[in-house]
Amino acid sequence: VCPTGAIVVKSHIDKVWDALNDDNKVVIAQIAPAVRVAFGEAFGLRPGESTEYLIVSALKAMGFDMVFDTCFAADLTVIEEGHEFLERLEKGENLPLFTSCCPAWVKFVEFNYPSFLNNLSSCRSPHQMFGSFTKNYYAKELGVSRENVYVVSIMPCTAKKAEAAREELGVDGNPDVDAVLTTRELIRMVREAGIVFKDLKEEPFDMPFGFSTGGGIIFGATGGVAEAVVRTLDGGHRRFEQVRGSEGLKEATIVKDGKEIRVAVVHGLKNARELLEKIKSGSVKYDMVEVMACPGGCVGGAGQPSPASTGVREERAKGLYNIDNRMQLARSDENPMIKMLYEKWLGSPGSEVAHKYLHTHYRPRRRTEV
Ligand code: SF4
Repeated sequence: VCPTGAIVVKSHIDKVWDALNDDNKVVIAQIAPAVRVAFGEAFGLRPGESTEYLIVSALKAMGFDMVFDTCFAADLTVIEEGHEFLERLEKGENLPLFTSCCPAWVKFVEFNYPSFLNNLSSCRSPHQMFGSFTKNYYAKELGVSRENVYVVSIMPCTAKKAEAAREELGVDGNPDVDAVLTTRELIRMVREAGIVFKDLKEEPFDMPFGFSTGGGIIFGATGGVAEAVVRTLDGGHRRFEQVRGSEGLKEATIVKDGKEIRVAVVHGLKNARELLEKIKSGSVKYDMVEVMACPGGCVGGAGQPSPASTGVREERAKGLYNIDNRMQLARSDENPMIKMLYEKWLGSPGSEVAHKYLHTHYRPRRRTEV
């Protein structure tokens, strides 16, 4: 059960097997950043060891037609969210901007702090953006109908299942994401399929959505979303280590065009509540706030192998920063495949098309609602 108490977890394993056995479906998987540094724990590897290319290999062996990287969509989120942030900063409205990648946090605001709804970024979370551009743009490139593209998100998160079912996300009742498998569910499927994980040969992600930058990779750790956005706003190649680590509240200030931008990062909803109360009372002031509901961010998600002590979560986060250090490109705006997507489909950040397919809206919710 999700530690935030936000949802009851439903297994999507059976419906994914059904889709894989349906000849009419093109089944496309995407793998979230945090999954790759925890998956191997079930097969005797250390927390933090990266296994993304082995997971691709396992998914292909199970019958997935294509396997892409959610980190690509995280890069796209950085571009859209960075644009949105600069617009708000210029107008001086709806600040601080709250990140919206974490559905348990979004739900927390909808239920408990509706007066802050306009502060949430309108960006869909990366896996939802992925589902949307896959079905509304890429399906046409493939020559397949939207209905026959089946998108499976491999996530560290149980709350992503409820997020994928939100009526705001999808077109005419056809959701952008059809199924969400947690890391643990995929481990079960690999075992059910009789795949010997240690004997797999690494396989690369498919292109074009298998290419990402370090900015997209670090989304899986607390502070990663804020750092990725700040890297792009800064425009240099600096990494911003002030927002990393296990402390409950982390802060950084950067200067852009002579203006100070104050950033705060919290993880865990207790820390989030305390920060919201301070912002409400006016005792603190920030321009951008990243919140992740799980301690440590997505590396500590409820769908990851357990137990996940602070030490294990830190090792997983270290694994993501190691991948980031090895990557040629650190900033999301340098991703050439993202540039291609804007040229071919989206136009520019914050365009009408981008708003229609990559953004969403929120509303106050009552306890009785999902
Ligand atoms: Fe899901 Fe936890 Fe990550 Fe939020 S922080 S998106 S609840 S895994």
